[in-house]
This record gives sequence, C-alpha cells and structure tokens, in this order.
Amino acid sequence: MSDHVAGAVLVLNAGSSSLKYQLVHPDTEVVVAEGIAERIGDHDGSITHEQDGEKTTETLELPDHLTAIRRVRELFASGGIDLASAGLSAVGHRVVHGGRTFYHPTLIDDHVIGEIRRISSLAPLHNPANLTGIEAAREMLPDVPSVAVFDTAFFHGLPEAAATYAIDRGVAKLHAIRRYGFHGTSHQYVSEQVPPLLGKEPSEVHQIVLHLGNGASASAIRGGDPIDTSMGMTPLEGLVMGTRSGDIDPGVVLHLHRVVKLDADQIDALLNKNSGLKGLCGENDFRSVTERIERGDEAAKLAYDVYIHRLRRYIGAYMIDLGRVDAITFTAGVGENAAGVRADALAGLENYGIVVDPDRNAERSRTARRISTDDSAVAVLVVPTNEELAIARQAAEVVGERA
Ligand code: AMP
Repeated sequence: MSDHVAGAVLVLNAGSSSLKYQLVHPDTEVVVAEGIAERIGDHDGSITHEQDGEKTTETLELPDHLTAIRRVRELFASGGIDLASAGLSAVGHRVVHGGRTFYHPTLIDDHVIGEIRRISSLAPLHNPANLTGIEAAREMLPDVPSVAVFDTAFFHGLPEAAATYAIDRGVAKLHAIRRYGFHGTSHQYVSEQVPPLLGKEPSEVHQIVLHLGNGASASAIRGGDPIDTSMGMTPLEGLVMGTRSGDIDPGVVLHLHRVVKLDADQIDALLNKNSGLKGLCGENDFRSVTERIERGDEAAKLAYDVYIHRLRRYIGAYMIDLGRVDAITFTAGVGENAAGVRADALAGLENYGIVVDPDRNAERSRTARRISTDDSAVAVLVVPTNEELAIARQAAEVVGERA
C-alpha cells in the first residue's frame, strides 16, 4: 500500500509549540504528504494534514510533541502509509543552532543529542524544541535513522572579521559569543540555484540573497562561500522581521532593564515577539501591513518604511563587502510574493547597474525567474526557497554515505 513511500524522507521542523512535517522524495522532489501541528502544549491544539491532495484539519488537545507526532502517524496510517514500515530512508530534523560543534548534517545518536542539548544555552527557545521533535521521532520510528541539519551550518566559515563581535575577547571566547548566522539551509539552497540561472560556474558568482519571510535575513556569498550574514549569535540581529526588532542599539536593552525595569524574559518577549512589523503597527503578516497602508494607515506606512530602510542598508553593505555583485535574489514569503518590496528595496540603483523590470517584477509565478531588465548589469532574481527539500536531500546523503 505504501510502496510509493519507500526511500522518502520525513522532514520535521519542531518549534516551541508547533511541529511542521513533510514526507518528500529527495530525488524526484515529490511531496507525498505534509502538515503542521500547532499550539502544542495548549488545550486547543490543531493538526492540518495534506495527503494525496486531500487536506484535513482537526482540533485536539496536544500536551506535547510526542502526542502530536503519534497523531500525525495515525493520520498517515489512515491515508494508507505506515511510517514505521514504509521504508523511509531517514528522518531529517531542522536544528536551529549547531554552535561551533556542528556544521555538517549529522547522524543523530545519544552523543549528538547530548551535544545539541549542551549548545541549547545559545538558543534556549529553539534547540530544546528541536530536541523534543528528535526524541519523539526516535521513539516512534526507532528503525529509521535520524539526521540533524543545522540552520547555522552554512555560515560556519564566515570570515573572522564578520563573525566577531567587538567585545572583550575573553568573555566572548568563554561563552561562545560570536555571529553564527541562521536560515543557512535556505541561503545555501537558494544561492546554489543562482549560478545555473546565470549560465556561470558557482565559483565565479558574487551574490546577495535576501530571505524575507516572517523571519528575515540577508547574506553575501562569494563563489559559494558566505562572507557575511545579517543574523548573529541569535536570529534576532539584522533585518526588521515580522515580530523581531533586528538590529538595535544594545544600550536600549540596558535602558529597558535599568529604567523601564523589565527583566530578561520581558525584554526577550518584547524584542522577539512584540517588535518588528508587529511592534510598529500591530501586524506581523506582511499582507495585512500592505492592506493597511492602502487604507491610509500611517503606523503601517512607517513600519514598511523602516523595513525597507533596513533592507537597503544591508544591500548596500553587502555590495561593498562583495566588491562586485552578479545577482541579488529574493526568497521566502515576502521576497517571493511582494513585488512592491522588491521594487522599493532596489529603487534608484541604476547607477550601480541594478535595474528591475516592472513587468517582470509584477508577474506572479512559482518558479525561479529573472526580474531585472536584460541590460541590468546585476541580475535580480526571485528563487522560491525549499528548506524541506534541502533538509531531505542532506539527510538522504548522510544516510547514503553510511550505507
Ligand atoms: P514565510 O515565513 O516564508 O512563510 O513568509 C511569511 C510572510 O510572507 C508573511 O509575512 C506573509 O504575509 C508574507 N506573504 C505571503 N504571501 C504574500 C503575498 N502574496 N504578498 C505579500 N506578502 C506575502
């Protein structure tokens, strides 16, 4: 019954209260099923599951990730797929922080779990959630190898000048405080699509990738190697995001503590959950921000302007970092869909050889495409990201190497 599943990879992305999953064939890119369990830990959890073109949503109590993953297995089973005996090649887990230890996709064993746990002090919100997904999957599918794919891995080789904070060296060293970068799976996947689109070898291409989703980050990549990225020790640094502030004077954090009397958890919540677009105008969904701007809402307009201002600042910095830029690529929810953001991010840069074609930019498409004019010296591209496929491929590769 589940023959068409043999060799597929189950990709799991466990957040603090959610579990996204996809069953995908890494070679053919065929997605067999996908879904998301949300509000794990609450009474009113829900699971949306899509298999064979049929989508179902149910609400139920999901006290923990193991309960969620067990229910997901039942949903697969009711669609004719027994995950435990279907011949999956691997379970691929997104793990947010690999610290300095992990920069390759890694087969998970007890030792690796211990190390990911140890690194959790660097990502206290993310890594423990990822671990719950890993442990739940290992318990439910003990015979399928699990592979961890780290969000930080692609940026492991950042030049020291880009990775180092200008703080006391001893403190930084002792506590592993440096810039790690995140969204690496997406930056790597998208940047690898670019050279063939330009008809060039990867080693020749200097490029900027703008991953603009609910989280957002930019990277500068020279010949396949990242030389800078906007996120730092945590995914809070850099661009303005849906709910995260991005760059902020560290003095503001001290002021919030000393004068406003917020404690660390309150400041964390303020900067991670109630800042960015949401903090500025009450909306973190970009479509809602745009709708409100169209209705004349000034807070939404300011939020948009701050977002674009920060984005252009990074583009400018990375043009200088790279010296020469062959391509600027937009990806993720906002980058792939919001033509206005793409136009505004690159407006008035004709003198730098960057010319967006308004008609190409306005075209809606799910495929990788060029939106700059034919004579624009810098190619401006839209490349849909696919982190699940990238994780599945890397997981399959690790398991294949072991076989
Ligand atoms: P992601 O994190 O990649 O799923 O991206 C989520 C963000 O993409 C949200 O802010 C969405 O509002 C935004 N988004 C999705 N579709 C569109 C669209 N058609 N136009 C503008 N923004 C969009």
